[in-house]
Amino acid sequence: MRVEDVPDPVLHEPTDAIVRVLRACICGSDLWPYGSMEASEQGRRIGHEFLGVVEEVGGDVSELKAGDVVVAPFVWADNTCDFCREGLQTSCRHGGNWGAAGVDGGQGEAVRVPQAQGTLVKLPVGEDSALLPSLLSLSDVFPTGHHCAVTAGVNPRTTVTVIGDGAVGLSAVLAAKRLGAEQIILMGRHKQRTDLGREFGATDVVAERGEEGVAKVRELTGGDGTHTVLECVGLKQAIETAYGVVRAGGTISRVGAPQYPDVPADFGTFLRNITLTGGVAPARAYIDELLPDVLDGTVQPGKVFDRTFDLDGVPDGYRAMADREALKVLIRP
Ligand SMILES: [Zn+2]
Repeated sequence: MRVEDVPDPVLHEPTDAIVRVLRACICGSDLWPYGSMEASEQGRRIGHEFLGVVEEVGGDVSELKAGDVVVAPFVWADNTCDFCREGLQTSCRHGGNWGAAGVDGGQGEAVRVPQAQGTLVKLPVGEDSALLPSLLSLSDVFPTGHHCAVTAGVNPRTTVTVIGDGAVGLSAVLAAKRLGAEQIILMGRHKQRTDLGREFGATDVVAERGEEGVAKVRELTGGDGTHTVLECVGLKQAIETAYGVVRAGGTISRVGAPQYPDVPADFGTFLRNITLTGGVAPARAYIDELLPDVLDGTVQPGKVFDRTFDLDGVPDGYRAMADREALKVLIRP
């Protein structure tokens, strides 16, 4: 991980905008290439969560202007194609990923934003707003937790287990609480993180893992497990735990990028009528709905940021997250 000077971004397409980055952050999923990518001379750009100020717009971008403070969801999309209209901007026919070939990453000073009008969401705040960390969470982590809760069908009548006390798991707790869930069991074993989980709305914390953890959740639910399970880790043990703690007829949603090839789909899960759902979150579809609650302080998802680094400190930020010293790192260029 290194920081390099590159040419300033310029408009390529009339649908582009140039955004100067005010805040960015490091995602748990950034740690996968951090841990596995071979060192290379050329390297590649990284970062898919950022907010900033529009500096310049292309001729087709009519709804944004220089000076607007905007947040970018973690993929760019036109927001007009059939998939986007169905709320699945992650499958946009004209969209793509930050940091892909020819596209800037968010962890930098400025970004050329393709499909700017469909991608960027204008924020009614100034460049120095105290809300910037929580608004930045709209880029990925809060909508991802929300997507997990929504696809699982969380509502005031459902009980919830959240697996994982990372930033996504804690965001899923916050989202489940916001959707009215009364019992939210958080499975995690880092006390500082589960304490924030309680603040976000967790009613119970289970630190045990594996069979012991499953037994604890069942004990808390009269032996049955919960109606919904939000799997926010992506490891094999987490999805197996999910099947262990879900109530018959219940739903498991997974938003942790899966590091396993198979899920349990045996006769036992068939007999118990378990639904498996979830997937990559179309953050853009949820920002308009979540934004008012962030603006008025009803929710403070930015509390997941516990360390801040400048651009030169980004390599240290990766190390801190990889070593679990930091829950989620905020970058302030
Ligand atoms: Zn689209």
